[in-house]
Amino acid sequence: MKPDPLRGVKGLMRGDLLGLEGYQPIVPLEALSEEVNLPPDKLIKLDGNENPYGCSPRVQRALASYPLYHIYPDPEQREVRRALQGYVGVDEKHIVAGSGSDELIDLVLRLFVEPGDRVINCVPTFGMYPFSTELCGGEVVSVLRDRAYAIDVAAIKEAIDEKTKLVFIASPNNPTGNVAPERDILELVEAGIVVVVDEAYYEFSGVTVAPLVPQHENLIVLRSFSKWAGLAGLRIGYGIFPTLIAEQILKIKQPYNVNLAAQLAVKESLEDLEHLQASVKAILAERERLFAQLKRLKFLKPFPSQANFIFCAVVEGNAERIHQGLKQKGIFVRHFDTPLLRNSLRISVGRPEHTDALMEALSEVGGKRSG
Ligand SMILES: *Cc1c(COP(=O)(O)O)cnc(C)c1O
Repeated sequence: MKPDPLRGVKGLMRGDLLGLEGYQPIVPLEALSEEVNLPPDKLIKLDGNENPYGCSPRVQRALASYPLYHIYPDPEQREVRRALQGYVGVDEKHIVAGSGSDELIDLVLRLFVEPGDRVINCVPTFGMYPFSTELCGGEVVSVLRDRAYAIDVAAIKEAIDEKTKLVFIASPNNPTGNVAPERDILELVEAGIVVVVDEAYYEFSGVTVAPLVPQHENLIVLRSFSKWAGLAGLRIGYGIFPTLIAEQILKIKQPYNVNLAAQLAVKESLEDLEHLQASVKAILAERERLFAQLKRLKFLKPFPSQANFIFCAVVEGNAERIHQGLKQKGIFVRHFDTPLLRNSLRISVGRPEHTDALMEALSEVGGKRSG
């Protein structure tokens, strides 16, 4: 078939994708640095939930001296999956690694969702779920969380119909920081659709349903090395799947989806747990200190968090103005002003000196009268 000259190449593209809004990209460190005219090492980046202590030094060393980058990585990820089996406490046949847990979100949707199928999203939450659903031609059904941002199990069950394939539950939720109770998750598993529990922040919450996966055919847990292990830039996450789903995900994924450097980094990280857990502990202690200080500011309402960030409603003044004011001082936080997240900020937990700089800046920026 020849392209219709009147419609051109655009006419050959998927119409549903042309209408997509796309994922809001983050601004890279170098661009931020140029924008505020400060060197990258002077910036305080509290907008990406990244680990302020970096990755394990064992990762740095192993990657610098690895001799076999010219050989393709193992498509079956044997060593990585075996290493993860010990860490997760679930047999390796349930585990598949991805290029970040973002890739696993996409693979799960590809496995289950055909055009016209429905996916339930518990909003407000992480933006990748609707993005990847729409890429697959699925329809996103948004179900509101309650005032404390807890998932509304009754409303989710109410929303399920014959076209519903799957529900996403981030626990802890991004950006609100709260976990979903196990009984809620199990109630949804009983409802028979696929329940995907995204535990990207598990190491900060200590709450998981991973041990329940082998007993259910429709429960999936996703995890990441981006946040707790400081490997966001290397792109490595994994899923814990019922056997049947794990087999299919292994089959449909790109053979070399996880690069060698990322595979090496996982193995080295898991051999340096003591170091990484010390970073996590420092972040947890700092989260509590940051929360106490934010709470003292009368223009902010911080929400309790079980992750490495704190969500704040701006109750007096304007979040965008605070966001801009902090930015001028080289401090970057995430700002939201959407119908479901009005006038609010998400602040990643940094090092103690980052908290100190942030609090000083907030007292200057937030104290002023606002529009
Ligand atoms: C950061 C984040 C991810 C992405 O993890 P990657 O492994 O870096 O792709 C997934 N889910 C949630 C809720 C996140 O906040």
